[in-house]
Parts: sequence; C-alpha cells; structure tokens
Amino acid sequence: MDEEKLLQQLNKFTRRKLSPDEVYIFSVILCDNEVDRDNEKFTVKSLEKLSGLFVGKTGIFDHDAKGSNQTARIFCARLEKDPERKTLDGEEYVCLKADAYMVRTNSNSDLIKEIDGGIKKEVSVSCLAMKKTCSICGANVSKHPCSHEKGNFYGGKKCFYLLEDIADAYEWSFVAVPAQVSAGITKFFGAPQIPKEQAELAETEKRLFEEIKSEVTKLCFLAYPSSSKGLEKIVEKMSLDELCELKKSLIDCVCGDLKPQISAVYKEDLSRFKLGGGKQFEP
Ligand SMILES: [Zn+2]
Repeated sequence: MDEEKLLQQLNKFTRRKLSPDEVYIFSVILCDNEVDRDNEKFTVKSLEKLSGLFVGKTGIFDHDAKGSNQTARIFCARLEKDPERKTLDGEEYVCLKADAYMVRTNSNSDLIKEIDGGIKKEVSVSCLAMKKTCSICGANVSKHPCSHEKGNFYGGKKCFYLLEDIADAYEWSFVAVPAQVSAGITKFFGAPQIPKEQAELAETEKRLFEEIKSEVTKLCFLAYPSSSKGLEKIVEKMSLDELCELKKSLIDCVCGDLKPQISAVYKEDLSRFKLGGGKQFEP
C-alpha cells in the first residue's frame, strides 16, 4: 500500500486531516497461527475475527508510557500468508499484520527512532477467547476439561489448545526488546468472568473436597496402618462420590474392629473425626 492510501485510511480515525510529516506509520505483527510458548494457537478463523476487532484499537508502549503521546493506533489490519512456512501442526503460516500510526511530537521522537532502528519487537495482545479446544480429542476445555495436558505428547502428537470464538479484542502493547532476547508473541487473555457467587461456590467445593480427602487419608491410616502409603495415592485420584463412600466404610471399619491396643494410640486422633451417628468409640 502506498503512503497516500495509508494516509487516507488513517485519516478516518483522526479529527483533522494529518499530513505525511505529522504522522509516523509502522506495521506490526500482532499474532499468528503458530503454536506459542503457552502451547496455544489461534485458528485462522480467530485471526480473521481479530483483524476486524483490532482496527481502531490503541497500543501502549510499555516503557516510559508517561503521556498520551506514547500510544499508537491501528488503522488497518490484514492476514498475511507465508506458503513457505508451516506451523508446528502443519498448517500454512498466517499472521495478523497491522498498520499503526503515531502523531509525531517532540516527546515521542526518541521512541520513533527506536522503532525505526530495527530493534526487534515483541507484541502482546489481549483478547477474549470463549472457547479453547484440545488438539488431541477436540474437547472444549473451557467447559469440560479433558485428560490431555497441553505441552505433553500423545502418540507422538503434541497437545495444544486452539483459541476460538473470539469475543473481543482489548488492546495491544508494543515492547521494544533488545535483539538478543528471543522475540515472539506474548499474549494475555481475559478469561470469561465467572460470577462472584459461582466463584465462591467453586472455592467452597474445592475446600470441602480437600478436607474430605485429608479425612479419608487419616482414616486409611487408622484402618490399615501398614498399607496407608499406597492407599494415600489411590485417595488422591478419587472422585468426591468415591471419597464419601470410602469414608463411610472406613468409619465402620475403624469403629467396629479397632483393637484395644491400637485404639488407645489413635483415640485422640479419631475423636477429631466427628463420627456423628456412627458407633461410639470406646478403647
Ligand atoms: Zn483432550
């Protein structure tokens, strides 16, 4: 795109027409469809969505961002393919490239020099992906976690999450980093907001789950002191239902058959379990 056309486009975003001398225009790669260091990747469809959402969005320069002059604005974004390059999962490489502008002022002249000076750039984008899909089994892990862990290999294939259903794009920040630091794309995602009550409920559930786990572990020790180590490992993997079931039978076992000499040792411990309607413990 020639300068005249670029200016026309960016002037759609300005209150008055800016002349070529007044603006500094540069392009930046916002993100791509490569599997990133978090073992996540955007689908091409997500990149298309983002290309629309990022137009008009302001970018921040993370260093020395004192004034409003230290911001740039995207006025044009497009997908660019590189048929020569393949992504980790064998797709044709596609990146989201944006044109951004800054109004030249005295205070940002140094910054402009830095960008011009070929210093490698690292961009972080923040956006909202409503869906994350497991590359191995196709599960929507933002709703139902699957057994695969991103970064691990299954049958020779690396597991990663596909970022889909992009709901919004917020901002992008432009970080000038020295060339020797490995360049790449970092990104931050706002997770869908969980309502407060729901979050608190989840917290309570988690706590109760941990509590019952530790209770069952102690009961295992009381009932089967010699094999308690092995049982502990099994308990770690049990569901809440299974734990409740096991707890009941362990209480019966401990209260029913406890030998007097053992019971004396564990009497104090056992009293902490609040056995409720169960048999009263007598040494
Ligand atoms: Zn999976």
